[in-house]
Amino acid sequence: MEKTDILSLTLPELEEELIKAGEQKFRAKQIYEWLHVKKVTDFAEMSNISIKLRTKLDTIFCIKRLIVVKRLESYTDNTIKYLYGLSDGSHVESVLMEYKHGNSICISTQVGCKMGCKFCASAIAGFVRDLTPSEMLSEIYEAERDSGRHVDSVVLMGIGEPLDNFENTVKFLDILSSSEGRGMSLRHLSLSTCGIVPKIYDLASLKKGLTLSVSLHASSDEERSEIMPINRKWGIESLLKACRDYIDTTGRRISFEYAVIKGVNDSEAQADRLSDLLRGMNCHINLIPVNPIKERSYSADRKAVKRFKERLEKRGMNVTIRRTLGADINAACGQLRREYEMM
Ligand code: SAH
Repeated sequence: MEKTDILSLTLPELEEELIKAGEQKFRAKQIYEWLHVKKVTDFAEMSNISIKLRTKLDTIFCIKRLIVVKRLESYTDNTIKYLYGLSDGSHVESVLMEYKHGNSICISTQVGCKMGCKFCASAIAGFVRDLTPSEMLSEIYEAERDSGRHVDSVVLMGIGEPLDNFENTVKFLDILSSSEGRGMSLRHLSLSTCGIVPKIYDLASLKKGLTLSVSLHASSDEERSEIMPINRKWGIESLLKACRDYIDTTGRRISFEYAVIKGVNDSEAQADRLSDLLRGMNCHINLIPVNPIKERSYSADRKAVKRFKERLEKRGMNVTIRRTLGADINAACGQLRREYEMM
């Protein structure tokens, strides 16, 4: 029988598994602390548990790990990019960044992606599979072990579409925030979506308190559908309606991501249209000068990005340009995995 991946279990699920195995329920909390606070990688290290039970745990469960296949560390700002190997031979990426207020990690939620955004390297190689909650957690834990740093905040902005892997993502959030485990406040977590509208309503109704980032990238349906196929299914109007519902239900403001692409979406008229769309909403606009990928000719015009920002500000919008970290180890999202797998 295949062993159960113990890092994918919520506390109630682990309690249930232990009871099924004829053990006492309270053991689950002890084990949870070993797994998610002390982050041990072997049942033998769980020293307040009898050797007999440790041996038994080892026959029922496994503690899966990720392999650091490639590690790129920036000389300029200590950013570290990881290419992880998963147990089935697939790969995903994470990026660990240092800010004044603490360490933040950007993690992947799927191997590849189905969404097909034109400017995104993850989309080009297609979709392989969803990540498990255990694999998402391990992206954080392995980076902490490797770097010796403590992760303070998490962004789900790596490879994949988190709302297309909804169940595993929600379980990951539950495990990460469990007060018996790591207890991370989900106020320190952002989830980025290309706009799977029904799942935005579902996420809002769970009231988890996390920040929602929405990848908008255009201000008309025609232009958005051109670069983001998902827009043909759920257009801007229905997306913004779901966003308003998210703000009303959770009380959190939304962050709109806008990858600024030269000659595609960076004119002042487009900035005006964007501000008309978002006026009155409790939101923030994050401009990302597009990160060029080999397969496409997209680029960013720094001056146009600045003009775009000023135009939005003039119209009263709350806007920032994303800081570029790790510029010397630059690889657009998904590029590291793609280059490695093509070798
Ligand atoms: N699927 C989710 C999260 C992954 S992408 C989403 O679409 O939001 C994380 C962010 O990076 C998204 O805003 C995405 O549109 C953006 N992105 C992807 N490729 C990019 C590139 N080459 N340059 C700039 N931003 C990019």
